[in-house]
Amino acid sequence: MSEKFEFKTETKRLLDMMINSIYTHKEIFLRELISNASDAIDKRHFLSLTNDKVKDLDYEIKVEADKALRTLTITDNGIGFTHEDLVNNLGTIARSGSKEFVEKMNKENQGKDDVDIIGQFGVGFYSGFMVADLIEVITKSPLEEKGYKFISEGLESYSIDEVSDASEGTKIILHLRANTDDVKYDEYLDEYTIKDLVRKYSDYIRYPIKTWVTKYETSDEKDEKGNPKSVETSVLETINSMTPIWRKEKKDVTDEMLNTFYKQKFMDWQDPLLTIQSNVEGNVTYRTLMFIPRQAPYDLYQSSYEKGLQLYTKGVFVIDKCKELLPDYLKFVKGLVDTEDLPLNISREMLQEDRSLTLIAKSVESKILSELKKTLEKDRAKYEEFFASYGVNLKYGVYENFGEKKEKLQDLLLFESLNSDKKITLREYKDAMKEGQKSIYFASAKDKASALMLPQIEAIKEKGFDVLVLTDHVDEFMLQVLKEYDKVEFKNIAQANDDLLTEDEKKELDKKKEENKDFLADLKNDLPEVKEVVISSTLTTSPCCLSSGNGISFEMEKVLNAQQDSDGKIRADRILEINPNHELVKLVEERYKENKDSIKDYAKLLYDAALIDQGMPLTDPKEFNTLLVNLMTASLKK
Ligand code: ADP
Repeated sequence: MSEKFEFKTETKRLLDMMINSIYTHKEIFLRELISNASDAIDKRHFLSLTNDKVKDLDYEIKVEADKALRTLTITDNGIGFTHEDLVNNLGTIARSGSKEFVEKMNKENQGKDDVDIIGQFGVGFYSGFMVADLIEVITKSPLEEKGYKFISEGLESYSIDEVSDASEGTKIILHLRANTDDVKYDEYLDEYTIKDLVRKYSDYIRYPIKTWVTKYETSDEKDEKGNPKSVETSVLETINSMTPIWRKEKKDVTDEMLNTFYKQKFMDWQDPLLTIQSNVEGNVTYRTLMFIPRQAPYDLYQSSYEKGLQLYTKGVFVIDKCKELLPDYLKFVKGLVDTEDLPLNISREMLQEDRSLTLIAKSVESKILSELKKTLEKDRAKYEEFFASYGVNLKYGVYENFGEKKEKLQDLLLFESLNSDKKITLREYKDAMKEGQKSIYFASAKDKASALMLPQIEAIKEKGFDVLVLTDHVDEFMLQVLKEYDKVEFKNIAQANDDLLTEDEKKELDKKKEENKDFLADLKNDLPEVKEVVISSTLTTSPCCLSSGNGISFEMEKVLNAQQDSDGKIRADRILEINPNHELVKLVEERYKENKDSIKDYAKLLYDAALIDQGMPLTDPKEFNTLLVNLMTASLKK
């Protein structure tokens, strides 16, 4: 009895794109089907370890062409499909890569460029429809009595029939499309094409991939000229080397091979930004092949994101995302580790306590960091690209675990700075420090332009000191953990500091404070939000500014209050600094001397001006408005 099914909408959409794709790299269908076959064999092998009813076999994948029937058949003796599998896995888009792909295509509405993505993405079984207009899947699971035949013409629906003579495993029969002017589909029936494609895309598959290869043998018979006649025979031959790319000698591996491997395995359509490869022998023995994606994975900062490297032992796949192999701050790294030091049947639980694994993880971490350092030194542009995508992770790395990793990470950080157009390292900042400069100054702002508008920056600029511009939320928290770099302390320019002053200037400042004691105290009384009003040591052209003392800074106040569990009550101290040399301050002070109670409004406006300069919201915008209107009216009346 034949059952008919409709494809789900999203599957239809994918099929539609596949079929109508003008994409030229249709050839990737073969690597997709072979990769599925290899996965299916892995699954059967694993099942055989725990299920007595399932025998372990001599595994193989066959690719067979039939020129007369115009079919290409891919056969594996893997896990096969149960009836339910057929409906769930081939009737629906099971694979996350395919889903993501369809979403991307939908979003970017099928421009020509998007179509190029197909080849890079790998869309599994459905890619068969790029070259076939009818696909049969004949399959039997070792767990079911019955075998099935799935047939789809790849448009709307598919059917499933029971079959009695299916062998365990899966046979996929592609009925190739008719040739067109542009595409000769029957080239996929050519043994040289098949060999080329297998070597190009599937060479490392660990099971033998076999195809029929023509051999010419000389026979005893002679031709007319008396020469031995040659006879054509077909031999089923293994065409892949079965050595995974990371187990090959470096000289046999090209960048292109690595890039292709990465894109295929980690479902990216772009080449990786960085490829890291190493072969370690010593306390632990392992090989690793790691990649940093050019673009951060879209879900990198979602809690559902799973970090980790694939784990192989002796070339055999063990675990997909072994999280023990990567610290959190390097969670964006993709790749694998293949070691000789772990048993094949290790469980996830055992892994957590495994000493070799801990050693490997340490060594992997150092390798990644040393590779990043090398990139920073040798290819600054590339490192900057890296840092733009992943810098924030390194910053969290400094911050986490109470700064345990800070020594390792501090020289990998980049910062915007006042004096430089490009981002600089802490070492570069330190090396460029001026004589007499005691601290590494930083300013928190939403960008460099806003930082430049901070009033406190004036004095520092005058001295020619550079200022690091912090724009990431984590920046200040990170600097709190770092505390100093190469024995020089970090200093927030918005936290009142007088280390810019000479001893004489300090004395002068103290004198001024004393002289203005009452004025400052009365200003403060008019401003309940303000902790203190002080004479500024840093202002030159602005009348006043706000600073935050030595506790938490304004930026941290913002960040902490934005956190979900905050009650919005965390507050940095507000210290109003006034510039005694500014004309406005002088005038206000004169007025104060005439009449102590007449400066209330000016005090408020000075404070509001300081808030605005600092990029902070006004406490009472309505009141500010009224004061401003009154002031303008008064000044025009005169
Ligand atoms: P993916 O392989 O990425 O999951 P596919 O659309 O290619 O996506 O395949 C969907 C599912 O069908 C697979 O996850 C697997 O469970 C099953 N499958 C595909 N090919 C085979 C095969 N040769 N043998 C057994 N199961 C297969």
